[in-house]
Amino acid sequence: MLRIAVKDIPPEGLEFTEGLKPAEVHLQDSDEFTLEEGGALRCRVELRDEDTVSVSGHLLARLGLVCGRCLDPFSHKIDQKLELFLLPHREGEDEEDEVELSERDMVVGYYRDHRIDLGELVREQFVLGIPMKRLCRADCKGLCLRCGINKNRESCDCPVTDTDPRLASLSRLFGR
Ligand SMILES: [Zn+2]
Ligand SMILES: [Zn+2]
Repeated sequence: MLRIAVKDIPPEGLEFTEGLKPAEVHLQDSDEFTLEEGGALRCRVELRDEDTVSVSGHLLARLGLVCGRCLDPFSHKIDQKLELFLLPHREGEDEEDEVELSERDMVVGYYRDHRIDLGELVREQFVLGIPMKRLCRADCKGLCLRCGINKNRESCDCPVTDTDPRLASLSRLFGR
């Protein structure tokens, strides 16, 4: 259960390990990654005062991504500490307040309707944890621009050229 009513957090706090399911961490079909089986959140939730909730724990999961060079699926490990405070979202609160809080060097999130949703936090961590360059490996050779084979697995006899074939036909046009 990744959704917890704040009133259900006992004075001594809650400590648990929870297996992650795609629906619970709010993954959608439109997402550019999938959650592989076996992911888990180990977590301690405490009520710090009337309504500030602290969450500390560890997130371990594997995400299924697609390589941006060769288009092969690959798995990316998320192995991440979680340490943050959740405050109740108050209607009418403007964004300036949020900036002030983050300047205090605390990671702060908000919860609504007297419930915290750890699944939402986990999803955020996934989005932040995905590398900018999605590569199956650092030296992925990618696809041959001419014949389309995967150069990690096969080789072809296409002429080696740094020129994009579309540019090559342009330069032929200009008689070079
Ligand atoms: Zn690749
Ligand atoms: Zn080729």
